[in-house]
Amino acid sequence: MTKRANGRRIKTPYCYTVFEAAERLGVSVATVRQWVRDGLPIMKAKRPFLISGGELRHFLDHRTGQRRSRLAPNQLYCLACKEPRKPYGLMVDYVPQTAKTGRLVGLCEVCDAKCNRMISRAALTGFQQIFIVEMREP
Ligand SMILES: [Zn+2]
Repeated sequence: MTKRANGRRIKTPYCYTVFEAAERLGVSVATVRQWVRDGLPIMKAKRPFLISGGELRHFLDHRTGQRRSRLAPNQLYCLACKEPRKPYGLMVDYVPQTAKTGRLVGLCEVCDAKCNRMISRAALTGFQQIFIVEMREP
């Protein structure tokens, strides 16, 4: 699993470039860019683009709680809605990521975008009681 970024490493009065934020948090630059796409505010008035420490910490705190605990057993996470959603028809694909983990992919019943949930292979049997699971190739 990906490491959980620790927002406490961020000093709220400061601003960070994407690179600095990544370094500070021990995550990749790609991860920070993904956060920006997921809604982390970035100041584009001048280059380099800056992220406020306060916004970053808020985003991480908020996101950690959201991602970890808010999904009900029959929900995936919709990146378009930024909300947990039931997949349409409770139909999902299981796409293996590694030997032990995979991704459940469905269509958001609200907006039709793809929604995802990372699960362990061991948990798949449980999810097969909830969803109609189609097995996919990696
Ligand atoms: Zn959606």
